Amino acid sequence: MNPDQVLNKEELTKDEIVFLLSLQEKIDIEKLYTCANEIRKKYCGDEVHLRGIIEFSNYCEQDCLYCGLRKSNKNLQRYRMTKDEIISTAKKITQAGIKTVVLQSGEDHFYSSSLVTDIILTIKEKFEPAITLSIGERGRDEYEEWKKAGADRYLLKHETANEELYSSFHHKEKLKARLAHIRCLKETGYQTGSGNIIGLPGQNIEDIADDILLCKEMECDMCSFSPFIPSQDSPLREVPSANTDLTLKTIAVARIVLKNVHIPSTTALSTLIGNGAEIGLKVGANVIMPNYTPIPYRDNYQIYKDKKTYDPIEFLNELKVMLDRIGRKVGEGKGHSLKLMLNQ
Ligand code: SAM
Repeated sequence: MNPDQVLNKEELTKDEIVFLLSLQEKIDIEKLYTCANEIRKKYCGDEVHLRGIIEFSNYCEQDCLYCGLRKSNKNLQRYRMTKDEIISTAKKITQAGIKTVVLQSGEDHFYSSSLVTDIILTIKEKFEPAITLSIGERGRDEYEEWKKAGADRYLLKHETANEELYSSFHHKEKLKARLAHIRCLKETGYQTGSGNIIGLPGQNIEDIADDILLCKEMECDMCSFSPFIPSQDSPLREVPSANTDLTLKTIAVARIVLKNVHIPSTTALSTLIGNGAEIGLKVGANVIMPNYTPIPYRDNYQIYKDKKTYDPIEFLNELKVMLDRIGRKVGEGKGHSLKLMLNQ
């Protein structure tokens, strides 16, 4: 296959996706990144959408083998933010001009349906941002209740499209069950996010191609492709971090295949490479998620080791300078799904 020919095609087959993910020559990889950046510009424009994230609880009832929040990890100091703490953090996010609040936690039923509803209603009433929930698998009735309360989006990554691998990392749970939740969220009317972890042990390039194609099949509105980083307190502590070139190629190929979706330049990527946020934005990403989890909680949201941490106000100032330098700008609206905008 020839990279120029493949990059000129409107639709890519799985073999062509694998081919692009496998490119090794610097000149070919540059062509891939240039193409992804052009497609990002065509479908998303130059706006970079900011999503302020609040990691409000690190309690988790799940035991995912790769994750530092897993319930078997007894070394983690657990915390739960109160409703008032969550609301005052949401205030800081919106006061900074950020128009999306992401509420993320481990799977923690301490936050009952009604408590989550109350938090959504209060944030919406006071500050009117878009709200993304990222709180794991819950019931259809809960998804419906929170949607009615005003939640706009839900992020639930499929993690890996390889059924066997999925079961091996999730105590034999089935990928099908995870996908049923993602489909349910779509049916309930959420702008839905999914995505994978790159560099899981046993994963190959075909699996990553399947991850991208699965996001396409499920018509996800946002897709996160983030690198694996080991947690010292997980059974995968000896597994090396993901290859950053493969991570960047995945973002680029995903942009070329998925076109009008939101793709973040993730904190995990910035943890692995110093200027990760900028590099991610240059190879196809159009979203940044500044972390507003208050001190001292943020140090205990240890999904993986050495998670990048910063003062959000300084981060935002530096980000704006960087965006200016690379010819991009902070998105003015809420940054809703690009698919919804097409249908309006
Ligand atoms: N509990 C929610 C859920 O299951 O969607 C959200 C919290 S969970 C910690 C958020 C994401 O962290 C997961 O979807 C997973 O992709 C990512 N994650 C967990 N461990 C990781 C690791 N070691 N390296 C990179 N990403 C990881």
